[in-house]
This record gives sequence, C-alpha cells and structure tokens, in this order.
Amino acid sequence: MAGGGDIGIELVDKIRVSFPKLKQWCLAGPGEPTLNKDYGAIVRSLLEADCRINTVTNGTRLSKLDLPWDKFMNLNISVNEVEAEEHREITGKDSFSQLEEGIKSVVKKDARLLMTFVVGLGNVERLEDYLRYAGQWPRTTAVPILALTPQSEADKSSLLESEELQEAFAAVKAKTPESQSVAWPRFRAIPKRKGGCGMSRDVLVVNGKGEVAVCCRGAGPRSELGNVLDEGRAVWKNKALSAFRKRVWSNKKPIKCRACPEPEI
Ligand code: SF4
Repeated sequence: MAGGGDIGIELVDKIRVSFPKLKQWCLAGPGEPTLNKDYGAIVRSLLEADCRINTVTNGTRLSKLDLPWDKFMNLNISVNEVEAEEHREITGKDSFSQLEEGIKSVVKKDARLLMTFVVGLGNVERLEDYLRYAGQWPRTTAVPILALTPQSEADKSSLLESEELQEAFAAVKAKTPESQSVAWPRFRAIPKRKGGCGMSRDVLVVNGKGEVAVCCRGAGPRSELGNVLDEGRAVWKNKALSAFRKRVWSNKKPIKCRACPEPEI
C-alpha cells in the first residue's frame, strides 16, 4: 500500500465494487501501510462494506491513528526485538518507544494482536524474552517466524532433514511456556502439481494506478496485462492476463519465473 505507487481510496472502492465477493483484505506493504495518506479512509470504507481486515505494520504510528482497531480481524505487528537498543539495531531507527505507545493505544481499544518475531539460529535464545513480552499484552498471539528460508524444493527437503533446523525447533519448543499462545508457522515440503505456480493462479496484484500483475515478484510487463480501473472485474480473465498465465505454466516460462523460488502448487 505504501511506497511510490500508493493505492488510494478510489482504487480500493473500485476493486471492492468490482469484486463484491472479496470480503477479506490485508493492508500491507511494501513499505509501512499506515503511512498511506488514505489508510484511515480505506479502513473505514472496508469496514462499512462489512469486509474483514488484517494489516501488517511496524506499529510505530498506531497511536497517531484514531481507528476502530477492535474491528480488525488481526493487527499483525512486526515487533522483532523487545528492547530499545536491539530494536534500533535491527530496524535502524530509534522507534521502540513509538512502537510501545502504539501497542498500548490499540490494546486500550481491545484490538487482537499478532506479534511477529524473526527467530533464527543466531537468536533462538531470545525467544523466551519475545514470548514473555507478547504475553504481557491481552488478546495477543506471539508468532515466531522461522528465519531459515528455503530457496527451492531441494533446499526445503534438505533443511527439513538438517540437524540445525531440528535443534532450532527443539530449542524453541523447550522455551515455550505452556501458558503462552504461540502460532508456530508450518514448514513442510509441498508436492508439485500440474497447474503452474499458485501465486499466478490465485492472486492478482494491483498497483496504485490500477495496473495488474500475476504476482509480486515482477514477472511480466505489468502495464500490458490490464487495468482494474478500466476493466473492473473483467480484468481477471482478460486476454493478455490469460495468455501470460499460460506462459507461466508452460515450458517457456518468463525469465523471472525460471529462477523463482515460489513453490509450484
Ligand atoms: S513463478 Fe514466481 S515469478 Fe513466476 S508468476 Fe509465479 S511467483 Fe511470479
């Protein structure tokens, strides 16, 4: 939502009207979504239309926004570190106090929080602190994100077998108190199926100008695949987009797709 091609309220309303069955929205980056000048208007418009909203934020601007946070399905806050100095080291910004102010302000409004912490072999011993921190806030689930990202199916299989990963899992499990609510991300090998990458089949990425793409990894000439402002719902099946999807699923894939780690599902 944020960044050069910010998505505005007009575009969101157009998409909402064109796709009336689209009832679940995630307001996320690239960039911090709450910096989008239309963030508040978009939230109100979606809530008025009975849509469910998730958002992914660094949390530092939450106290500045007067929004009905309790109406969100989840507020996903990337906390990452729970002490000011470490937080500054990771984010490069002196913003831990703003983050805490933001958390306090949405907790007062009875928001449901997901706090994410990136956990790798280098900081697995901090997990206990992360969980304790998340545990002090009501209606909060801690979500440790495993920082070992496989780049291919082969990588994934070997990672699953690796002693390092097994050790990290064991260490994390041992340090998780029974009382703490923790959603541990699933991490498993996904069998290949015919039909091309799932992203290109199920997702439509739209930029601030309404131009569409099959995925957020930059496969294909975005400006030539269609525009949701001009075509509305018909964009989903227009000729250019359909032809491009077929290429993604064929043996003559676009260059971006050839090196893409996206699993074929
Ligand atoms: S294979 Fe990768 S680059 Fe190609 S469409 Fe799918 S997600 Fe995008």
